[in-house]
Amino acid sequence: MARETKYYDILGVDPSASEGELKKAYRKLALKYHPDKNPDAGDKFKEISHAYEVLSDSEKRQMYDQYGEEGLNGQGGMGGMDAEDLFSQLFGGGLFGGGGGGRSRGPQGPRRGKDMVHHLKVSLEDLYKGKSTKLALQKHVLCGKCDGKGGKDGAVRTCNGCGGQGVRVTIRQMGPMMQQFQQACPDCRGQGEIINEKDRCKQCVGKKILGEKKILEVFIDKGMKNGQNITFSGEGDQAPGIVPGDIIITLDEKPHSTFQRNGDDLVYHAKIDLLTALAGGQFAIPHLDDRILLVSVLPGEAIQPDMVKVVPNEGMPAYRHQTHGHLFVKFTVEFPQSNWADEETIAKLNAILPARSPLPSFGNKQVDEVVLADASGYQSQRGAHAHYEEDDDDEGGQPGVQCAQS
Ligand SMILES: [Zn+2]
Ligand SMILES: [Zn+2]
Repeated sequence: MARETKYYDILGVDPSASEGELKKAYRKLALKYHPDKNPDAGDKFKEISHAYEVLSDSEKRQMYDQYGEEGLNGQGGMGGMDAEDLFSQLFGGGLFGGGGGGRSRGPQGPRRGKDMVHHLKVSLEDLYKGKSTKLALQKHVLCGKCDGKGGKDGAVRTCNGCGGQGVRVTIRQMGPMMQQFQQACPDCRGQGEIINEKDRCKQCVGKKILGEKKILEVFIDKGMKNGQNITFSGEGDQAPGIVPGDIIITLDEKPHSTFQRNGDDLVYHAKIDLLTALAGGQFAIPHLDDRILLVSVLPGEAIQPDMVKVVPNEGMPAYRHQTHGHLFVKFTVEFPQSNWADEETIAKLNAILPARSPLPSFGNKQVDEVVLADASGYQSQRGAHAHYEEDDDDEGGQPGVQCAQS
């Protein structure tokens, strides 16, 4: 008759439970309360692991049955073994892992394959209108002929050389020290299992997997953003004993020639002439969905260079919403060429435009009157941060005209 049953209670088994029942109960609970899976469970995982550590050791179990927790003092009380270590010792690789590369580190279920990430370049037009596109890629699938077993039923044997671990540990005496060496098992070449050549699956030559071309249909929703992921769950590479990872398509937005995107908003640079800026007129914005926005500048609105205006609700569609962002328009005002106006016109301008701002008073400072010359043809002072904004109208490449390099 057990004096104490706390450890049995933790595992939810009867004190008469067999080793197998204990292991089964531990596995179920450990999976449920493993911190990776259940980070809020606190010390529950440790408790379970500790209970199992004690009860799975027949000596310790006997001590516990006879004397309770006290009887264990000094022989691996709390913290005798790390809960994670115990867990991976029991289940890592063995129950979950397939043979071959990479033992499981996240023991919350079968090992999960790697996600496969692909980048897909998309135009701003596609992100505006939405689009479905087909993507062909290469992946591994389990061989259908042998169901991913590598051979006929029963053909696959656990390697005796390594007990299925794929590695052999040898202990060698090195002077006063014992040293442990680990090497890939030579019998099975680290696979942990052996298939006789004649029993090997002909289709995959015992490799269990085959390459396959997969066509994915990718739906780009309106308003999706640069860097946004589209996930195809479980479409990653298949391999025996693992849950395939995902295929993740990451959108790379291509730069656009006329629009800049800023979240759901768009920015457009418009060039208008001075007359339109002052007296009003229209200009056109070719939109991302092939519409033309014919924009009116109201007479007298007086658009100034670098002024920013907005066309409300003509920006990008918001992802999964019925709304749109806004379209911001930044203006460049093109002025007439030099000497465009005759005296008569200038006189009209004097009469029409707002009066010149008056000059400030100079007090008794010396005042020299100077005139402007065209800056091209003049070398800027060394070290001066002069920068000429020259128009594209080439005046025949004047020698000696350079911007000063700072
Ligand atoms: Zn096969
Ligand atoms: Zn082996």
